[in-house]
Amino acid sequence: MSRPRALITGGAMGIGAACALQFAESGYRVVIADVDDEVGRQTADRMSRSSFDCQYVHLDVSSADVVASTLGALGPEAFDVVIANAGIARRTPFLTMTDAQWHHTMGTNLDGAMHLFRAVLPAMVERRRGSLIAMSSISGVAYGWREHASYSASKAGIIGLVRALAVEFGPYGIRVNGIAPGYIRTAQSLSEEHSLGEAGLAAAASEVPLGRIGDPDDVADVAVFLGSDSARYLTGQVIPVDGGLLVSQS
Ligand code: NDP
Repeated sequence: MSRPRALITGGAMGIGAACALQFAESGYRVVIADVDDEVGRQTADRMSRSSFDCQYVHLDVSSADVVASTLGALGPEAFDVVIANAGIARRTPFLTMTDAQWHHTMGTNLDGAMHLFRAVLPAMVERRRGSLIAMSSISGVAYGWREHASYSASKAGIIGLVRALAVEFGPYGIRVNGIAPGYIRTAQSLSEEHSLGEAGLAAAASEVPLGRIGDPDDVADVAVFLGSDSARYLTGQVIPVDGGLLVSQS
């Protein structure tokens, strides 16, 4: 029997790269899809040098046509696990935000997940199995993030997408879940311009009951669980991976 296959968008770096490595370590053949070709290829090459089966493809998830054609070119074989992880955060004060800024974030974070899942589901439906995982955020679940309305709306939208698809595709043996990371140390959260930055992350650590900022592996561990048969009766859920942040503030 051939080894299971996982596709991870935004897999060049950060949480996506940690997912790629952990799924490979769990025996999956991995496809990393990203817009950052240089870093994406480096990540895939590093994994291949460690004898993991890993392929990089350029994929901008915000374009429905590009997603459909790129996934078509990867062949008809169904993926076992697909992770809609690609996402951007852009600081935009609401009253000066343009429609283009709103649509850029929504188009990447929410439309991107929709494009991806729509493209991979037919093969999963035919095979009557599969696991879809979407990356939300604590700001989609319950956490207000000022000057990030489009980000927060996109991440809340992910939760609706997860619930609707879980119900629609459960009868085909396909599970759909999400992860809502808290503060995780990556390029995104380290951006001074668009997120907390180094000093902001250091300060935020004291708010976290577990006493530290998360690592990408903290999220990837949960993704591997959600993709596995250990989560066989779990669908339609979005799991916060936040060191206890949300429950400490409710
Ligand atoms: P990073 O910015 O570290 O990595 C995201 C990757 O996605 C980058 O390689 C980025 O490329 C790529 N990407 C951006 N736009 C597209 C696109 N249109 N198509 C394909 N790939 C794209 O992010 P994180 O690892 O921090 O975040 C991963 C996910 O987790 C995101 O959805 C994020 O919103 C979510 N999340 C992260 C949290 C955190 O604290 N880090 C907290 C809550 C949620 P490029 O760099 O060129 O833009």
